Amino acid sequence: MKKGLKKEPAEMKTTAGKKGLAAGKTAAGKKKGTRKKTALTKNEKIRKELALEVIERLKKEYPIAECTLDYEKAWQLLVSVRLAAQCTDARVDQITPLLYEKFPDVAALAAAEPEEIEEIVRPCGLGRSKARDISACMRVLHDQYDDHVPETFEELLALPGVGRKSANLIMGDVFGKPAIVTDTHCIRLCNLIGLVDNIKEPAKVERELWKIIPPEEGNDLCHRFVHHGRAVCVARRPQCDACCLRDICRHGRTTMEE
Ligand code: SF4
Repeated sequence: MKKGLKKEPAEMKTTAGKKGLAAGKTAAGKKKGTRKKTALTKNEKIRKELALEVIERLKKEYPIAECTLDYEKAWQLLVSVRLAAQCTDARVDQITPLLYEKFPDVAALAAAEPEEIEEIVRPCGLGRSKARDISACMRVLHDQYDDHVPETFEELLALPGVGRKSANLIMGDVFGKPAIVTDTHCIRLCNLIGLVDNIKEPAKVERELWKIIPPEEGNDLCHRFVHHGRAVCVARRPQCDACCLRDICRHGRTTMEE
């Protein structure tokens, strides 16, 4: 199954798509479509320079930046990202075809009892709460959005089971708007590299990254963090010897000095 939403042109036509980038719109700003710009501190300027170099190097290392969850339609990404909590993407990608075979669209999932959904998604863990959220979310899409996924960050965030990470993922991958997805890879790598200083709380990491990452680069960079976090900068033992960022990474440089 091909990843990405390129197979759903009808829904893509309803979005601002890349126009949002040209207009400098952001996903998480308090006012829709605007992000207040404040002068960067000296440290933030240094981190911005670092971020730009990281972006360029990871682009070369991972030319294709895409979501590792399989989906064809926007609502399916909402389902997958909920299932992915404390579960591997590979496991989610095994389960979702079974779910969509039985419930092929938003209306079918909205009409299903949470227990019917739970029966299928149980192998992803936390089956009851995930099924409950998916059911509630699909009912909102069905009742309020004509079976479509809403296009603003605020509306996405208001959906059952959707947090900032998921809302950003949808904004970036589905609607082509600026997004920063602060998952565990992003948070870990940003702290190791030195893009943030000992910040673990996702919303705080996101806020710091918005200051230093060009909006149009955020979504792809976060996907590349996932690729790099799996291939090289693995959680327990980062492979700094083999890393393209070693000479500019805060942690990597300490390993060169050893
Ligand atoms: S140099 Fe090491 S710690 Fe830094 S990003 Fe690369 S693997 Fe991770």
